[in-house]
Amino acid sequence: MLKDWLKNIIYAGWVNEDSADVRKQILISSLFSLISFVFLIVYGCENIIQKNLQLATVVLIAAAISGVNYVFLYRTGKSEITSLVILLLMTTLCLYLISTGGSHNTGPLWIFVLPCLIFYILGLYKGGAYLLAFLLIVLYIFLVPDNSLLLTEYPAAFTARFIGALLSLSILAFIYEYSREDGRRELLNLSSKLDYLSRKDYLTGLSNRRDMFERLRNELSRLERSGRVFSVLIADIDNFKSINDNYGHECGDYCLKEIANTFSTNTQKRDTVARWGGEEFLIFLPETTGDQAKITADRLRLAIEKLVITFEENTIHTTTSIGVAEYVPGQTLNTLINNADRQLYLAKSKGRNRVEIGEPRQHETS
Ligand code: GH3
Ligand code: MG
Ligand code: MG
Repeated sequence: MLKDWLKNIIYAGWVNEDSADVRKQILISSLFSLISFVFLIVYGCENIIQKNLQLATVVLIAAAISGVNYVFLYRTGKSEITSLVILLLMTTLCLYLISTGGSHNTGPLWIFVLPCLIFYILGLYKGGAYLLAFLLIVLYIFLVPDNSLLLTEYPAAFTARFIGALLSLSILAFIYEYSREDGRRELLNLSSKLDYLSRKDYLTGLSNRRDMFERLRNELSRLERSGRVFSVLIADIDNFKSINDNYGHECGDYCLKEIANTFSTNTQKRDTVARWGGEEFLIFLPETTGDQAKITADRLRLAIEKLVITFEENTIHTTTSIGVAEYVPGQTLNTLINNADRQLYLAKSKGRNRVEIGEPRQHETS
């Protein structure tokens, strides 16, 4: 309960935001607004007590901006605006503290939060440019003699060490952000490569069962709304076991690749051919009625019949049986696939090397 409440506070009410990047931006924006609000109120009150009224006023105005920023974030979730506000506010405040020295000339020390905040909010390249511009202004204030922006006096030893520390921190923050970005890019590459591999059949390079199932599920909900038709074919190679038995498993694998290739080259670009199981293929035909799908299935059956596979010194001929099913609105994916399967087994039982199609327009649900 307390955990949920805290989460709600630090995410400004946007805990369940979908994108991780936006969630991170909300978190940074909200935390910095909240922490700086509390901190600046305390710092402002301390300066009132010390009768440092000008500094107290500036700090309390900054506290008020932080507070309003948090409320704005809570109400709207527009973290891209609030994070920029917090960055500009912190930058202005730091420059003011350097310029005036803050309380007891310790103001410049606040600057050390900035390099990390800049990279968090702006990322590597924009952040790098912003930080560079900021450093040039700081160097100007500290190093250009008699400049109008410097309203206090710092000992030379302090200036030298302060600038050294600030430059070191900035370089480290840049290197850290660079390696973080680099790692993130590599992870994204790896994850998209893995995603691609997890959808491909290693032997034929076709979509695998998982990928096809997902595609069909997406298509189903899309086509359901648009009312368009589509059909599926399930093709099973006839007596494939005998190819393995007669010529070996390696030859069987080679045949599967040739068969997959034949299916792909004899279908249209918009169609998807997937390896559904061992020697079974599922072909998705968008915008295709059952009757049109039957024509495609006949073409595929003929193409496999004509296919001559040469493996080592062997010449292999094979055939395929195909079941066709047209999608009927309201039908489940399983019913559709079962219908195609039923037709496939009908084709097998009628002697193989055939195409069978059921009654397409009957409405079935299960
Ligand atoms: P049917 O006409 O009834 O479909 O007969 P079939 O021999 O094709 O069917 P069955 O289910 O008896 O055998 C399928 C064979 O497909 C058995 C299995 O070893 C082979 N097979 C499945 N996957 C692969 C594979 O990746 N490589 C090879 N070489 N063979 C495979
Ligand atoms: Mg078979
Ligand atoms: Mg089979």
